Amino acid sequence: MMIQRQDHIKKIEQKKKNKQDAGLVSERYPAVDGMVIHMTYLHKAENPVLMERTVNVFPSSYAYFNMECMTKGCEGGGFDLSPIIARNVKQQKKSVKGSMVCKGKSEDRSADHASISYEISIKYARKKPKRSKK
Ligand SMILES: [Zn+2]
Repeated sequence: MMIQRQDHIKKIEQKKKNKQDAGLVSERYPAVDGMVIHMTYLHKAENPVLMERTVNVFPSSYAYFNMECMTKGCEGGGFDLSPIIARNVKQQKKSVKGSMVCKGKSEDRSADHASISYEISIKYARKKPKRSKK
């Protein structure tokens, strides 16, 4: 349907905008040389592992870490790793592990329909970034 298609385009446009607003890793986290985000998507089922995904983050990547929920029909869901990454980069942590529950909802899905467990490895540049002269 046309409306659905427009809606889909709108969502893609919005995501593009969000990414651009987030800026680049090199701008936002100049000390970071790279990151590897490994995620296991879990859902409520007999076999709870839905998929595994590894995302490689480079200084030239967007500093956008809001991972989509893979559940069909999930509205406003997702897994935003941004605050976790921000906190751990600040503390210069090299690896982070944890889990997160999707906060999205839809008619037939409860709030705990999906979750991820994540493992983030952060590599820092050897040279300390120069302090900006702001
Ligand atoms: Zn969801």
